Amino acid sequence: ASAVEIRNVNKFYGPFQALKDVDLSVPAGKVTCLIGPSGSGKSTLLRCINFLEEYDSGEIRIDGRLIGYDAPGRKMSGRALREMRRSIGMVFQQFNLWPHMSARENVAEGLIRVRGLSKTEAGARAAEALAKVGLADKMDNHPSRLSGGQQQRVAIARAIAMEPRLMLFDEPTSALDPELVGEVLTVMKTLAAEGMTMVVVTHEMGFAAHVADRVAFMERGELVAADTPDRILHQP
Ligand code: ADP
Ligand code: ADP
Repeated sequence: ASAVEIRNVNKFYGPFQALKDVDLSVPAGKVTCLIGPSGSGKSTLLRCINFLEEYDSGEIRIDGRLIGYDAPGRKMSGRALREMRRSIGMVFQQFNLWPHMSARENVAEGLIRVRGLSKTEAGARAAEALAKVGLADKMDNHPSRLSGGQQQRVAIARAIAMEPRLMLFDEPTSALDPELVGEVLTVMKTLAAEGMTMVVVTHEMGFAAHVADRVAFMERGELVAADTPDRILHQP
C-alpha cells in the first residue's frame, strides 16, 4: 500500500516552475530518499506533502486522502489541514528548538498544546521519546548545552512523540559538523527498521544507498527516475 500518492503535481513560484508533472508513490513502512542537485525541487516537493507549500495542480494523497484541497480548486479548512498534519512529523535542516526550554520541555510542549496531554503525561512521553534517540541523560539540558547532533535528535524525538504515521526529513544532517552526522543517521536507521514510513531529502549518498528502499532523483523540477537504490545509484 502507498502511504503517499503524488500525481501530476505542478508548482510555480510566480513564473518559475519549481515542480513539473511530478508523480511518485511512497510505499508504507519504507524509506524513500529524494536526491538531486541543489535547486531541483526536492524541498519544495517534500513541503507540498504536508501542504507547507501549496501545489498548483495535481493531487497528493496521504493514506488515500487528498491533502490541502476538499475538491479540485477548493482548499480545505485550516482545521481539516491541521487534523491531517497530526499524522505527519517533520524534521528540518535547522532544529527549531525553543532556547528557553529543556530538551524534555521542547518535546512535551506539542503533546500538551496539540494533543491536550497533562504536563505529567507529556513529560513521561517526552522522556520515552528522548530515551529512544539516546538522550535519556540529557533531558534537562537546554539546546545551548547540546551539540548540533543532539539538538537534531531532540527535534526527531519531538516529532516521534506525536506518534506520526509518516515522517518527512528535509536535509536533516546538512547543518551538522561532519562528525555529528552519524548519530542522527543512526537514529533515522532505527526508525526505518521499526517500519516508519519516511521521506528523506538528503545529500548523504551512503544513507540513500544502504537505508532507502526507493530513491527518487530530481532535476530541474522533474522527477526523472524512481527505483531501488542500486538501480539509481549504480552501486557496485
Ligand atoms: P532543492 O530542495 O532541490 O534544493 P528547492 O525546492 O528548495 O530545491 O527549490 C527549487 C527551486 O525553487 C529553486 O530554484 C529555488 O530557488 C526556487 N524556490 C524555492 N522556494 C522559493 C520561493 N519561496 N520563491 C521563489 N522561488 C523559490
Ligand atoms: P534551503 O537550501 O535550506 O532549501 P534556501 O536558502 O534555498 O534554503 O531557502 C530558504 C527559504 O527561502 C525557503 O523558505 C525558500 O522557500 C525560500 N527561497 C528559496 N529560493 C528562493 C527564491 N529564489 N526566491 C524567494 N524565496 C526563495
